[in-house]
Amino acid sequence: MAKVGFIGLGNMGMPMAENLLKGAYEVTGFDLNAAATERLVDNGGSRANSLADACNAAEIVITMLPSGEQVREVYLGAGGVLASIRPGTLLIDSSTIDVQTAREVVQAAQNKGFAMVDAPVSGGVAGAEAATLTFMVGGSDEAFERARPVLEKMGKTIVHAGAPGNGQAAKICNNMILGVSMIVVSEAFLLAEKLGLDAQKLFDISSKSSGQCWSMTSYCPVPGLVPSSPANRDYRAGFTAAMMLKDLKLAQTAARATHATTPLGAGAAAVYERFVESSDGSVDFSGIIRYLRGA
Ligand code: NAD
Repeated sequence: MAKVGFIGLGNMGMPMAENLLKGAYEVTGFDLNAAATERLVDNGGSRANSLADACNAAEIVITMLPSGEQVREVYLGAGGVLASIRPGTLLIDSSTIDVQTAREVVQAAQNKGFAMVDAPVSGGVAGAEAATLTFMVGGSDEAFERARPVLEKMGKTIVHAGAPGNGQAAKICNNMILGVSMIVVSEAFLLAEKLGLDAQKLFDISSKSSGQCWSMTSYCPVPGLVPSSPANRDYRAGFTAAMMLKDLKLAQTAARATHATTPLGAGAAAVYERFVESSDGSVDFSGIIRYLRGA
C-alpha cells in the first residue's frame, strides 16, 4: 500500500489517519503538537520529526490544518511540502480554507509538476472516526481519480466538485445554507412557543411540509424531537458554533471577493459571531436557539 505523509493530527486528522492505517496504508504523521504524533505511533503509524521528514518518502501527502494561513505556510514555506516531496507525489488538502488560498496553493503545486486537490470534508469528528466523511473535491479529473482510493478509506461520499478550489466553494456554500437554516428553524420554534403552538406539533407539520430541511428533521435544535440531535445532550458538539462561524466568515469573504449578494449569509455570520462572543464557542452550533431565546 502507498506511503502517506499526514500533516495535522488534530480532532479530525487523527481519526482520518487512523482509518488509513486500518486500510493498510503506511502513515507517517507530523503535528506541531508532539503528543498527537505519539498517539499515531501508538496506533501503528510512524513519527516524523519535521514537515520535510513527513514528506521525504511519501507518495501521497494529506494535510488537515486549522486555516488557510497554516496551509500556505506548510505547502509554500521554506522546508515545506513543495520543497520536500519526491516527483510524482499526490497532494491532498482536506482543511477548510478560503477559496483563493486553495487555488493559489494548487497552482503553486502544479507549477512544480505536482497533482493536487482541495478536498474539504463534512461529517465532523464522528464522521472522521466512522470513515463516513463526505469529501468535496476540487481539481483536475486525473488528480481526482488518483485521490479517490485514499479518500474512500476515510469517507463514504466522494464528490468531484470541479476545478481547483471548487471543493472549498462547495463546502462554504453548503455550510452557509446550514447556518442560515439552523437560525431560521430555531426562530420558528421560538415564535411557535410565543404563539402557543406545541413544538411537537410544529415538528410533525414542518418536517412533512415545505419548511422541511436537515436542520429541522435530522438536527432539530429543540430537545426531545430528534433523538440523535445534540439538543438532547445539552448541545455538546457535534459541530461547534466556532466552526460554523469560521465557515460563515469564509463564505462572506468569498461573497465580497466575487460581488455575490448574500444578505442572509451575512446575517447568519453576524448572529453566530454574537453567539460565539457570548459563550466559549465550543457548544454545538444548534445551541444558537438558546442564544436567540435569551437575546
Ligand atoms: P484541530 O485544531 O483539532 O487540528 C489541527 C491540527 O493541526 C492541530 O493538531 C495542530 O497542532 C496542527 N497544526 C497546526 N499548524 C500546523 C503546522 N504548521 N504543522 C503541523 N501541524 C500543524 O482542528 P480540526 O478540528 O481537526 O479541524 C481541522 C480542519 O478540518 C479545519 O480546517 C476545520 O475547519 C476542518 N473541519 C473540522 C470539523 C470538525 O468538526 N472538527 C468538521 C469539518 C471540517
